Amino acid sequence: MGYFGCHLSASGGSAAMVKTAMSIGANTFAFFTRNPRGSKAKKEDAADAAKAVSMLESDGFGKLVAHGAYTMNLCTADQEARGFAADILEDDLRRMAALPGNFYNFHPGSHVGQGAEAGIDYIAVALKNALRHDYPVTVLLETMAGKGSEIGGRFEELKAILDAVGNPNVGVCLDTCHVYDGGYDIVNDLDGVLGEFDRIIGLPRLKALHLNDSKNPFASHKDRHECLGKGSLGIETFRAIVNHPALRDKPMILETPNELPGYQAEIALLRSLES
Ligand code: FE
Ligand code: FE
Ligand code: ZN
Repeated sequence: MGYFGCHLSASGGSAAMVKTAMSIGANTFAFFTRNPRGSKAKKEDAADAAKAVSMLESDGFGKLVAHGAYTMNLCTADQEARGFAADILEDDLRRMAALPGNFYNFHPGSHVGQGAEAGIDYIAVALKNALRHDYPVTVLLETMAGKGSEIGGRFEELKAILDAVGNPNVGVCLDTCHVYDGGYDIVNDLDGVLGEFDRIIGLPRLKALHLNDSKNPFASHKDRHECLGKGSLGIETFRAIVNHPALRDKPMILETPNELPGYQAEIALLRSLES
C-alpha cells in the first residue's frame, strides 16, 4: 500500500494534522513550516510534536514532506534577501528536529538575472551551512517547471547543487506537474524520464513525489496545478506512477486545487489505481 497524502494546514499544530490526515485516508502529508507567502513561523510546541511523533509511528505513516516558504529564495542576487532566506532555511531545519526523520522540501529558487551557475553556487553555500548542524531531517530539492529564471527545471541543475553540497542527506522531490511542464514527458515515456533521472542524478536520491495534474500542455513552463485526471497528464499517468517499482514506496503528496473533501476523494482514487 502506497503512502498518499496532501498539504494540510499547520495552524492547529502537528498532532491535529495527523488526526486530519487519518480522517481523509492519508498516511503521509505535507505542511508549510511557516507562512508560505511570508516568513512567519508558528510558536514551537514540544509536547504537541511528541504526541504527533507517537501517532505517526503507531498509525504506520510514511515520511512527512514539509515544505519551505515560497518566499525563501536562496539564490537571489540581493545579498540581504539571500541572507534572510539562509536564516529561514537553518531555522526550518532546526524546527524539523521536533519531527525527526522526515523530509523538508523547498524550491531551489530563482536566480533573477545573475545566471544559473551563480544561483546554484548560492544555494549550495546556504545548504552546506544549514546542514552543518546535522539535524535529523533529509532536505529535498524540488524539480521545478523552469518558469522565468527558476533553478531546478533541469535534472542537470539539481545534480550540480547536489554535487556542490556533497552531503548524502540531500535528495530530490519530483513534482509531476513541474517535470511535465519542464519538458520531461512522463505521460508517454515515464520509464525514459526515470532513466534520465537515474543517469543524471541517480534514482536513490529520489525520496518523494508531488502528485499534480497540469492545466497546461507539455513543456509550457507555466506551473499551474490541476486536479488528478482533469489536466494534460491524465489518470493513466498516475496509475503508472503509483505502481512503478522505483516510485511506489515513496511518499506521494497532492498539491491539487482542492479542499479536504477533494483531497480525500483523490487519495481514494490513488488507492483504487494501485494494483
Ligand atoms: Fe513546491
Ligand atoms: Fe510541488
Ligand atoms: Zn507547482
